[in-house]
Amino acid sequence: YRAVATNLWDENQSILGTMIVVENIGEEQNEKTRHAEFVSSVAHELKTPMSGIKAYVEMLLDGDCDEQEAQELYGFMNDQIDRLTRLVNSMLNLARIESGVIEIKRHDHELNDILKTAADVIAPNAAEKDITFITELSDLYLPVHVDNDMLGQAIINLLSNAVKYTPNGHEVRLRSRMEDASAVIEIRDTGMGIPENSLPHIFDRFYRVPENNSSAAGTGLGLALVHFIVTNVHNGSISVQSKVNEGTSFNITIPLGHQEKKKVRQVASPV
Ligand code: ADP
Repeated sequence: YRAVATNLWDENQSILGTMIVVENIGEEQNEKTRHAEFVSSVAHELKTPMSGIKAYVEMLLDGDCDEQEAQELYGFMNDQIDRLTRLVNSMLNLARIESGVIEIKRHDHELNDILKTAADVIAPNAAEKDITFITELSDLYLPVHVDNDMLGQAIINLLSNAVKYTPNGHEVRLRSRMEDASAVIEIRDTGMGIPENSLPHIFDRFYRVPENNSSAAGTGLGLALVHFIVTNVHNGSISVQSKVNEGTSFNITIPLGHQEKKKVRQVASPV
């Protein structure tokens, strides 16, 4: 709270009383703190690759390196510039969706169609790592009222993480089922898992599990975007379960669409 006290005087300069205005600034302060924290994490994330590039440029300017060393430095710089580009693209994507600049286009869709499209995008990445990619989609018609591009993007993010954080030769599974009045999507892998103390932070912007990211490229923004798309855009929910060295499972729940519930009943109870 913020209290501002003002003395009130009459025309003879004698004090009439004191007016105290009490304002609840808790929310405003929270918002400011969150904003300041966000700006400082963005700055930090941008600084790391930039100081890398600067160091490489300085080495090249010094002129002490031979042709082969120079080629190597150009390669490092290229990687850092890719990282900057990924960061900026992810931030723009998240900001556009959160601020409503991107129009949300929710229409009636069949969930399994969206999942099949996402699976087709990821299948080559899985094949490249010899990962067995299994899709087990519900036989039921799962009507949802969603923005198919956004929900598809969320599923792709989760599948691509599953492939990225799972060693070669392991398994990734995409499942769908109906539960009560909702459709449930499960993305499960048999990969490196997420330590218990990291699980509460996993959807935070820029959070990356320190143990998992020695080599994998990323921004720590993917899951923040998934969370926003599922909860804010589609009134759904998302949860995660994980065991280190055993694997991770993300579960998304999306409310089923209205008018087609009739169709579901027809399919579910044909007799
Ligand atoms: P990133 O760009 O780093 O992949 P994300 O926001 O998508 O960012 O994920 C945040 C962090 O969560 C990752 O850096 C990784 O440490 C961890 N993570 C995400 N998905 C998985 C998974 N399927 N298995 C293990 N760790 C994961």
